[in-house]
Order: sequence, then C-alpha cells, then structure tokens
Amino acid sequence: MTIIASLLRNAELPDSPTARLDVELLLAAALGKPRSFLHTWPERIVSTEAAQAFAGYLQRRRTGEPVAYILGQQGFWSIDLEVATHTLIPRPETEMLVETALELLPGAIAHRLLDLGTGTGAIALSLAKDRPQWEVTAVDRVQEAVELAERNRRRLHLDNAQVLHSHWFSAVEGQRFDLILSNPPYVAASDPHLAEGDVRFEPSSALVSGPDGLDDLRLIVSQAPVHLASDGWLLLEHGHDQGPAVRDLLLGHGFEQIQTRRDLGDHERITFGRVSC
Ligand code: GLN
Repeated sequence: MTIIASLLRNAELPDSPTARLDVELLLAAALGKPRSFLHTWPERIVSTEAAQAFAGYLQRRRTGEPVAYILGQQGFWSIDLEVATHTLIPRPETEMLVETALELLPGAIAHRLLDLGTGTGAIALSLAKDRPQWEVTAVDRVQEAVELAERNRRRLHLDNAQVLHSHWFSAVEGQRFDLILSNPPYVAASDPHLAEGDVRFEPSSALVSGPDGLDDLRLIVSQAPVHLASDGWLLLEHGHDQGPAVRDLLLGHGFEQIQTRRDLGDHERITFGRVSC
C-alpha cells in the first residue's frame, strides 16, 4: 500500500531536465486526476492499478520518451490537444504565433486565416477558439496529422475551423487569406540537436528542412504573396539564428513592415510582414 506523497518522493527521472514536473504529470494521469489533486491529497492511498500504471509511465520516460507522447496529450494556449508521434509536440514558444496573430488582426471582423503544417492543430484551433468570428483553415501534408487535427477540432467543437490534407498551398489554390501563419520544419539536417532529448522521438518531417533548415521557409515565403489578401500578413516561426535569413526572404518577395520577435529565451523566434497588393 502506498500513498501519493511517497510515490512523488521516491520517483526518479535522472535524465529529464523537467523531472519534477514530469513525475507529477505522470502520476496525475495514472490516477486520472488533475495535477492539483496530488498536492491537495498527498496522504491518499493509491490503488495497485494506478501505481502500476505510474511505474509503467516512469519506465517509458526513463527511456527518453516525451511525456506528451506517453500521455497522448499536451496543453497549448487555452486548449488541451491530443498528440501522437506523427506530429511535433506543441511548444510554449509557438504560442507567440497565436499571441501575435491576435494582436495583428482586429477581433470583431470575420478574417480568413491559413495555418500551414498544422500538426496537432495547435495554432489554428487556439485562434479559432479565441476568435469565433474568424474562419480558420488548417492544412498538413501528413494524413495522420490531418486526422489528428480534425479529431482535436471536433472534440473542441470549433465549427469555424476546417482541416485539409494539403502540401503547403496545394489544396487552397486560388484562395486568399488575411493572415497566413506557420511553424514549419526549420532544423538543418545535420543539426546535432536532433539526436538529443525529446526531439529524438518526434517525426523528422516536422523538424528537418534541408541542409540549412530553410527549404520550407523559402517555399512558403515565395508562394504566400498570391495567397494573401491586400494588406495580408505572413507570420512565421523559425530557428534562433534564422531571423536575418527570414527577413531577407520576406524583403525579397515584396513584404513590408517586417518585424522579428524574441522568445522567452531571448532568441529571435518569429518574423512577420505584410504585402500591400
Ligand atoms: N523548435 C523546435 C526544436 O528546435 C523545432 C520546431 C520546428 O522545426 N518547427 O526542437
């Protein structure tokens, strides 16, 4: 027989940089309770089944598997998303794309948005939820990601969003949007970071983009102007050292009012601009 407090005290995840948080998330999931439950009821007895489930989760985490894949879910902005191994795990820095989109467009107008490479649907569904009057299209090239994002959309009852199977703009030819945003793959194929930590478990289709990591960003920037409405914005996440290259790309394709913003780690992380015609 064991209690919550002793399971928390004795659990060890020596290789995880977020060990304490991981342990709490895994135990809360094994109990089927929110994390706050652990601190409210530390003396509560844990059933054998829950203790075994927790031990299984810990074992998987010790092999390096990300917590989000073990639990099959991840919080992002104001929503909880189902996640799976075909898609990137939504990251806190990507919330800047959501925040900036909300800032760039007035809320009360029925704007049309496009999210390229939506994965779980994190960006598109967060915006669709916060702005019910916007019409949000989310696309992905990976069929499993399309199905996952569609499940997330349905579970969150977001009727103002749609998810399409599309390689970048292929399914939206001839359409124009007021804002296009994307967190595309942007890691260079030889980046040693790909062999470390949680990233090892994520699909390279969502991470890697050619020798300098810029192949997809180049493609998106070059094709975006014909899909933007007049004064429409393009908003992109990129690598910490890709700010100058992305600003040059935007400038070269006629974008104006180009700006870059830094993430909480003080790295250049998102760059945006607009076209006037
Ligand atoms: N920021 C992610 C990482 O470095 C990469 C995400 C992406 O390629 N879009 O792990």
